[in-house]
Amino acid sequence: MNKINKDEALVVFSGGQDSTTCLFWAKRRFGKVHALTFRYGQKHSLEVEIAGKLAEKAGVDFHVMDVPLIGRLGSNSLTDPDIVMDQEKPEGSCPNTFVPGRNMFFLSIAAVLAREHGISHIVTGVSQTDFSGYPDCRDAFIKSLNVTLNLAMDEQFIIHTPLMWIDKAQTWALADEMGVLDVIRNETLTCYNGIPGDGCGHCPACRLRRDGLEKYLASRGQQADSPTAARY
Ligand code: ZN
Repeated sequence: MNKINKDEALVVFSGGQDSTTCLFWAKRRFGKVHALTFRYGQKHSLEVEIAGKLAEKAGVDFHVMDVPLIGRLGSNSLTDPDIVMDQEKPEGSCPNTFVPGRNMFFLSIAAVLAREHGISHIVTGVSQTDFSGYPDCRDAFIKSLNVTLNLAMDEQFIIHTPLMWIDKAQTWALADEMGVLDVIRNETLTCYNGIPGDGCGHCPACRLRRDGLEKYLASRGQQADSPTAARY
């Protein structure tokens, strides 16, 4: 068995607002950080390119895994070009932007890779506060999977979820506190229509991100369309 290095962390990394915030969060806490990005058949392959650039900027090791099966297993609008994306959460069900099993597969693969590198800390940007109805972003699921992964591999992984109990405005506040608000605002890709930075402005991911930014900037006495201070 590999030696567990308690000073290293592996971040499940998409290059979006949340996981990029987590990447910088991990950099503050761990001696060495790895980013793991998945090619799972997402329509916007630019995501992987952007993730690579951000990982390079952050100075972390970058790993990419090809797992196209995940996008093909269940129908969803992020991987199937024939499905029109839900703009609102339908009554009593998940929006069709939900990729069934995605976080379970991602975290399970992350744990196997972490084990290979002797890493026990795994970081994910899921949040129960702004979880858009996705069941695999909830705290109970993450805690349950953590136990399962430890049992599955006889390891002592610790899954960190720094955004679990904070909303989007607080996620922006965290980025600002770490001096990376502008990097996250301008260089990440959260938009479901594949447009980096402030995005298309109208898809559910952009609306959530922008509402949070407006709320955070208003608390600082600024507006979203005014330039933010470059502090990176
Ligand atoms: Zn958008």
